[in-house]
Amino acid sequence: MKSNKAVVKMPRPQYGEGAIAEHYREILRQIGENPEREGLKSTPLRAEKAIRFLTNGYEADIQKLVNGAIFNEATDEMVVVKDIEFFSLCEHHLLPFHGKAHVAYLPQNKIIGLSKIPRIVDVFARRLQVQERMTQQIAQCIQEVLDPRGVAVITEARHFCMMMRGVEKQHSSTVSSAMLGDFRSRKDTRDEFLSHVRHSSLGAF
Ligand SMILES: [Zn+2]
Repeated sequence: MKSNKAVVKMPRPQYGEGAIAEHYREILRQIGENPEREGLKSTPLRAEKAIRFLTNGYEADIQKLVNGAIFNEATDEMVVVKDIEFFSLCEHHLLPFHGKAHVAYLPQNKIIGLSKIPRIVDVFARRLQVQERMTQQIAQCIQEVLDPRGVAVITEARHFCMMMRGVEKQHSSTVSSAMLGDFRSRKDTRDEFLSHVRHSSLGAF
C-alpha cells in the first residue's frame, strides 16, 4: 500500500472526559449564560460527547475498516454508490455542513463491500473540513485501498455558516468533485458517471 496523506490515522491527545466540557462551560459564561442553571448543567458534558463523536474520523483506522471487505473479482464495470448522506463540520466556523456524496470506481480485479463506501465517507466527514478537501480525501482513500482504474467523487452540501450567518443564503448548495485515473483522463467514463448522478437528487436534497 502506497503511503497517502488521506488515510493517515491522526493521533489525538488523550485528555480525560470533561476536559472539553470545561471549555464549553466557559463559552456559556462568555455568551452571557449561566452554566449552573438547570437546563445547562449537563450541557458542557453533552456538548463534549457530541463534538468527540462528530470528529471521531481522526481516530478511524482505514485498514481495519476495510479489512475482510475487499474481494478479488474479475469485473471492470463501473460501481456507483449514490446519495450517501454525510454530516461534517466546517473548519472555519465549526458549524455543520451536510449533504450527499456520490462515489464511483472502476475495479481492477478488486471490489469492496458496498457498505464500506459510506463508512469511508464518514471517516473524512467526521473531521474539521472544507468540502473540497473532504471530497479529495474520500477519492484518494478509495484509490489507495482498491487500486482501481479510477475513482470519482461528487459531493453536494449546504453550509450552515452560509445559511445561518453572513450571506444567509438558505437555499444555495455547493458542489465539489474529485476525478482520479480514467475518470480524469477519459471523457466517456466521466460522462457515464455524471449521467448516473444526474438522475439522482443533485440540488434537490
Ligand atoms: Zn464555515
